[in-house]
Amino acid sequence: MIWAQVVTTAPCPLCHPLIDAQDHVVGYHHKLSLLSLVGGALVLPLDVEPYGPGESEQAASGRVLQRGVAALGRRFAQYVVGDGLYASAPFLHAAGDLALHPIVRLKANLPTLLAAAEARFTARPPLMTLEIEGDRVELWDADDFDPWDALRWPTVRVLRYCQHHRDGTLVDAYWLTDFPATRFSTPTLYRLAKSRWTIENQGFNDAKTRYGLDHMSHHHPNSLLLHWLLVALALTIERLYRLRYLHRGLHAPSTPIQFLRRLRLSLGVPVLDTG
Ligand SMILES: [Zn+2]
Repeated sequence: MIWAQVVTTAPCPLCHPLIDAQDHVVGYHHKLSLLSLVGGALVLPLDVEPYGPGESEQAASGRVLQRGVAALGRRFAQYVVGDGLYASAPFLHAAGDLALHPIVRLKANLPTLLAAAEARFTARPPLMTLEIEGDRVELWDADDFDPWDALRWPTVRVLRYCQHHRDGTLVDAYWLTDFPATRFSTPTLYRLAKSRWTIENQGFNDAKTRYGLDHMSHHHPNSLLLHWLLVALALTIERLYRLRYLHRGLHAPSTPIQFLRRLRLSLGVPVLDTG
């Protein structure tokens, strides 16, 4: 998962040029991969890995994933979820070597598998239809698709969902995994695949709009990395405090703005002079 920060000052080693349609450099931006804990009520950023113009998102994500698993232990997580960029044999094998099951979006970059899944699933009715948070969700699931040549899995499990929103829009998406169907049911696999969006919403979006991820106090790779790590740490501490510590009891967890208002009010409490 990447995030891009637009830069207007002189480039640093982490700067990627922004090119317009006429091949002119019109600015620069920074990119980083974010490793985030997902799947439960608490979404926590774990680590970041910046990468420069000569590197790929996939390589940076591979490094931050290795570091995260080494720090947290192999049994900490069961799966890793990512978008279609990660649907390549090297990444899927690397995840397997870390004892993680990959759940990755299946798109046109794997045309043979996508065509096989479309042909099979569009020719038959859904396996099940569920009502999830007001949306009608149709699910197809099969675990006997052929792997492509470079992939060492015996078979590939493919999930398709058609999510009919109340406003009439439709999301039709395919995902691939090596999770056996006996281990996770179709609705559970759907929920795990959807957890990918919490990285975007509660990771980059929150960090940018509420925590100043875009702020750049000094345009230097070390300074940028420290700032990004401090934002991730601040986000983690705030979320743990607000959603776990303050949530003790029967009341609903406070929203970030409720928490901020309480904090400001508490700062205005007069200090008693006990001398
Ligand atoms: Zn830069």
